[in-house]
Amino acid sequence: MMKRHRRSTYVPSAVQYTACHECDWLMVIPPLQPGEQAVCPRCEHKLRALPAEARLQPMVYSIAALIMLLCSNFFPFLGMAVKGIHQDMTLYQTATTLLEEQHPALALTVFLFMQILPAICLTLICLIYYRLGHWRGKRLRKRYTLWLFRLIPWCMVEVFLIGVLVSLIKIASLADIELGYSFWAYVLFSLAMLKAFSAIDRDWLWLQQSGPIHLRQPPVPRGRAIDQHLTLCHACHGLVSLRTHRCPRCHSVLHARKPHSLQWTLALLFTAAILYIPANVLPIMITESLGQQTYSTILGGVVLLWEMGSYPVALVIFIASILVPIVKMLAIAWLCWSVYAGRIHHRRGRTRLYRLTEFIGRWSMVDVFVVAVLVALIRMGKLMSVYPGSAALAFAGVVILTMLSAMSFDPRLLWDNEPISDRANPQEKEAETNRAE
Ligand SMILES: [Zn+2]
Ligand SMILES: [Zn+2]
Repeated sequence: MMKRHRRSTYVPSAVQYTACHECDWLMVIPPLQPGEQAVCPRCEHKLRALPAEARLQPMVYSIAALIMLLCSNFFPFLGMAVKGIHQDMTLYQTATTLLEEQHPALALTVFLFMQILPAICLTLICLIYYRLGHWRGKRLRKRYTLWLFRLIPWCMVEVFLIGVLVSLIKIASLADIELGYSFWAYVLFSLAMLKAFSAIDRDWLWLQQSGPIHLRQPPVPRGRAIDQHLTLCHACHGLVSLRTHRCPRCHSVLHARKPHSLQWTLALLFTAAILYIPANVLPIMITESLGQQTYSTILGGVVLLWEMGSYPVALVIFIASILVPIVKMLAIAWLCWSVYAGRIHHRRGRTRLYRLTEFIGRWSMVDVFVVAVLVALIRMGKLMSVYPGSAALAFAGVVILTMLSAMSFDPRLLWDNEPISDRANPQEKEAETNRAE
């Protein structure tokens, strides 16, 4: 007799209550059709989007990405030739060469962000989606789901690819470059991984695993969730009562607002700002050419590239390594000040700025990846070699700390000091406030 497992697909039939993750506005969402998305009327935050193939797409793309990642480690990644001398590098050498050069922390950072964390996330997707809807292993899948959403922001595969391209343009004038099979496998891996991540909808996934959260009495879909003793669970995005300490669906600890959000954000920001000094003063890369050593800082590298006429690369490095970290740190500091000072204008604009700081933060990692690729590729002894400088680790620290700082900031604080009279119709009131300024 065939063994039958209990497997079900949860299809929400009625409207669902939710609160906006970024402005705490309570609202109802009608059942979405595949391909549709819901947007907050007050702050324009994308609340949820139902992919066309919500169950199949993430798993199929994850398997494809994992196969491609495996392939990209077996063949040469890049090759270069100078004066008849040929040199190859494999993908994992971007990390192992740094280890040989006595930079274990930098090696670990690079390896984690470009291979380990993406591989863990893709494996978790396979484990979650393979038996989604089965009762067996449900508790473990819930834990996997919590970890998946914690780790996704730290997968920097596309940033690494940009780093590889920048490195190639940097050395294109000095040597003949060859793209190996692994390079193309890594490009396919990156595309498949991004496709898998974009096909995941957190709300849909939690609904499939545990169904909706039942509230004792239906909330009034108007005003802030906190005013009705409700909050959106930060982990599973379910609307829950603040009267319980833990979320009934994912068991995460509940908070109406992130605890000590401003203090954490500013502390991390301040540490990043301090670390930004050695990141710019110390050399990020040491180049040895015909026995002569040249130390280059981040800014020095940009000036050199500009003088060599590589304007686009100089601009990319300048924007990613100098402009983005500074703008991001100033933006976060200003957001914190605007909350502290109780500013009530341009709430939507400031929320957009917050989203931008969250989005651009990881792109500063480009320069660290450029160093990793150049160190692994250019190893020709006294003829031409590149070594990592101590600024590379300091700069990676700046990027990680600013990312953590942006994550600690609670964007709902931007909306909290809104006058009660303004909480009637979000779109009209915000438009009026902006017009009035
Ligand atoms: Zn909102
Ligand atoms: Zn939850």
